[in-house]
Amino acid sequence: MYYPFSWLRSTARLFLYLQIFALIGWYLEDLLLAVCLGAVGLLLINYWHLFRLNRWLWHSRKMSPPTVRGVWEHIYEGIYYLQRRNRNKRKELGLLVKRFREGSEALPDAAVVVDAKAGIVWCNRLARLELGLKWPADAGRRLDNLIRHPQFIEYFHAGDYHFPIEVPSPTNPNKTFEYRIMPYGDDHLLLIVRNVTRLSQLEEMRKDFVANVSHELRTPLTVINGYLEILSADDETDPFLHKALKEMTSQTHRMQNLIEDLLVLSRIEASSERIYEKVVDMPTMLKQLQIEAQTLNREKGHTIEFHVDQQLKVFGIETELRSACSNLVFNAIHYTPAGGHIEVTWQRSVQGARFAVIDNGDGIAQDHLARITERFYRVDKARSRKTGGSGLGLSIVKHVLSHHNSQLEIASTVGEGCEFSFVLDSELIQEPQ
Ligand code: ADP
Repeated sequence: MYYPFSWLRSTARLFLYLQIFALIGWYLEDLLLAVCLGAVGLLLINYWHLFRLNRWLWHSRKMSPPTVRGVWEHIYEGIYYLQRRNRNKRKELGLLVKRFREGSEALPDAAVVVDAKAGIVWCNRLARLELGLKWPADAGRRLDNLIRHPQFIEYFHAGDYHFPIEVPSPTNPNKTFEYRIMPYGDDHLLLIVRNVTRLSQLEEMRKDFVANVSHELRTPLTVINGYLEILSADDETDPFLHKALKEMTSQTHRMQNLIEDLLVLSRIEASSERIYEKVVDMPTMLKQLQIEAQTLNREKGHTIEFHVDQQLKVFGIETELRSACSNLVFNAIHYTPAGGHIEVTWQRSVQGARFAVIDNGDGIAQDHLARITERFYRVDKARSRKTGGSGLGLSIVKHVLSHHNSQLEIASTVGEGCEFSFVLDSELIQEPQ
């Protein structure tokens, strides 16, 4: 039976104990000696209990405490209660860890947890298999000492984990892995590694397929176009045939434009050219573009103004930048109703070198803006077809800019016009010597 601890009862018991000795002392006429003997006895009893407590805590296999009474009973009960509570907590935690481990082993991806000092805290079985980690031998070792691919090390140290990277596997160069790092808690990182070999092979196949098909279609189309031109030149063909030939020629031109744009897109996608190696003379390139724009503008009669900083040259890939700028300028000419005003600027800005094309055409509604750079996305299909556009122009611009670490900004108000612009980082500007 367990009684709650009472200081009063305990003090009363002590008092009674000492009183018995005091009575004996009074009877034997040596009160002090008797009380001292009682205190020494009390001390010995407590020492005995301390000894038992120590033996129970450190040497006994028994969980339940020895049976005692008084204050010591409360101490034993208290310790026993704490032990039981801790044991239950440990059991619960153990179960939780076990379930978490089972869950993480069931993950189809390799997972590694890394602490603030880049030391490995934990990894699952797939991480051991795919990344060649040893467990528990590699616990605490720096992850960047074990995965040595330069691209991974750069990604790991850059601290910008918004996008994953694709890198060949450290154990098998035929495999491609996608590494994604997610920061969590106090400076901890979770690395998830997915095998994307099949996906990247399919992506490569898709790119090759588009490039090959476009290339193969080019020759037959040139032949058809050649014959169509010869047949159209004959003045004596009957009017129906003449109309048919005209339409066929216009459609083959559209197909040729489409194929050229597909090839440009494939080339940019496959390009591994570095943007820091060659200087692009943008002022000269824009002068040529101005001449081409004026030729294209003959039917439309827009006023086109070019404001170009003649000193502003940048590092980049000339063919790609020309393609991006001409697409933006030609789009403004095509999609602005006749007699409009178009302004092209190439100037320094706070962030770098800024190219912008501003027109006062019909503008683009906000809900189209998010999708407008997708392949074959058109705001007004019938009108785009009339302009002979392939639907790939802004897609090409997007790819070129992403290759130059930039992006297309579009500002538009329906009925007032659009502004298409991009900024090349100041790092890319070639400062005049
Ligand atoms: P397309 O070859 O059809 O011109 P783009 O990718 O170049 O394809 O453009 C996509 C769509 O964006 C066009 O069909 C057109 O509707 C719209 N667009 C592009 N530039 C402008 C502009 N300056 N003003 C209005 N609409 C534009």
